[in-house]
Amino acid sequence: MDCLFCKIIAGEIPSTKVYEDEFVYSFKDIAPIAPVHDLIIPKKHICCANEIDESNSSVVAKVFEAAAKIAKAEGIESYRIINNCGDDAGQTVKHLHFHMLAGVKMGWGPESLGKSE
Ligand code: AMP
Ligand code: ZN
Repeated sequence: MDCLFCKIIAGEIPSTKVYEDEFVYSFKDIAPIAPVHDLIIPKKHICCANEIDESNSSVVAKVFEAAAKIAKAEGIESYRIINNCGDDAGQTVKHLHFHMLAGVKMGWGPESLGKSE
């Protein structure tokens, strides 16, 4: 399958690994927008949040179990986890992934959505 993140999981494209278990792989985002910016992805290829159903939703629990472990390893207590689903939300890689951001005071509101007013 021609999927960037499947290739990263397979080791065909290099990445800076943060965490790995049977279900989940985590690595440093190549273009970080915060001091800590890790991506957490299920090893199973799921395109996006729209494709989550009762047959595969357990991987989401695994992602959040991993997030808590990664936070401890990174020495952070406060973080934001973001999933972009679809083009308007800014999803550029069509393999389900969660951004884990930390290390900076983050804002909230229309500005964070890129709205001008
Ligand atoms: P999204 O825009 O939500 O689809 O997020 C995709 C993320 O993948 C972006 O933050 C990119 O910086 C990141 N990314 C793209 N290619 C790589 C790569 N080879 N290694 C690590 N992160 C990557
Ligand atoms: Zn994939």
